Amino acid sequence: MLADYHVHTHHSGDSSYPMEDMILQAIRLGLDEICITEHMDYFRNDFTHMVNYDKYLKEYCCMQAKYQDKICIKFGVEFGVQVHTIKEFERDFAAYPFDFIILSNHQIDDKEFWIGDYQQGKTQLEYNREYYQAIFDVISDFKSYSVLGHLDMIKRYDREGILDDRVNEELIKNILKLAIADGKGLEVNTSCFRYGLPDLTPSRTILTWYYELGGKILTMGSDCHEENHLGHFLLSAKEELKTMGFKQFCTFDKMKPIFHDL
Ligand SMILES: [Zn+2]
Ligand SMILES: [Zn+2]
Repeated sequence: MLADYHVHTHHSGDSSYPMEDMILQAIRLGLDEICITEHMDYFRNDFTHMVNYDKYLKEYCCMQAKYQDKICIKFGVEFGVQVHTIKEFERDFAAYPFDFIILSNHQIDDKEFWIGDYQQGKTQLEYNREYYQAIFDVISDFKSYSVLGHLDMIKRYDREGILDDRVNEELIKNILKLAIADGKGLEVNTSCFRYGLPDLTPSRTILTWYYELGGKILTMGSDCHEENHLGHFLLSAKEELKTMGFKQFCTFDKMKPIFHDL
C-alpha cells in the first residue's frame, strides 16, 4: 500500500502543478492513494496564501469522479495555524468535508521561517524554542487536525545549523504527549531527502520519542509541489519506520485514521 499524504497543486499559492497532471502521474507511479493537502495560511494583511476552497472542492469532486476506478483521492488541507488565526481555521473546518488535515507551523506573528524573517535578530536557541512553543500553544487550543506536519521544519531554514533535539526535549515531548492524548498523529515528510537534510523530518530522535510515548498514528507525504516530487522516498520512509519498531501507518477517511501494515 503506497499513499502520498502531502500533495500541493495549483490551488496552493506556491505550486503551479495542475491537479489532473498530478493525478495522472500518481497513477503512472502506481500509488494506491493520494491526499491533496492545499496550503491555507492566514495573515493580517496578505491574502495571497489563501486557497479558494470552493474552487478546490469543485475540481477535487470532478477529478475524484473521473479517476475513482484508478486511484483513491482524498480531500485534505494543510493548515498553517498561528495562535491568532485559530478562529479562521475552526470556521474552515466546520465548512468543508475534509478527510485529513495537516497542522503546520509556517509562521509566528505573521513572520515566515522560510525566508528567515522570524529568526532575524534572535539567537538559535530563542527561535527554535519559540517555534516549538508556538506549536504547543496552538494544539492546546486547536484540535481540528489529523497529524502534525513536518514537526521540526525549523531545521530546514536554520542558517546556524541543526540544533540538537535534546535542547528542547521536554517541550517536544509535551507536544507529542498532547497530540497522542488527543488522538492525533505525526507526519513523516519525505522532502527531507530533496532538501539534503542529514535526518528524516521529523528526525529519527523525535520519531523514536513518539514511538516510546505510545504514538501510533503516522502518515507519510512527499510535500509535493511539482511532478518530480510526487511519491518520493515513501518506500525508504517505510523501511526507516520499521527499524524504529513501528508496525503500521495510516490513511484517513472523513478525519478517521485507517491503519495499514508498513
Ligand atoms: Zn508545510
Ligand atoms: Zn506542504
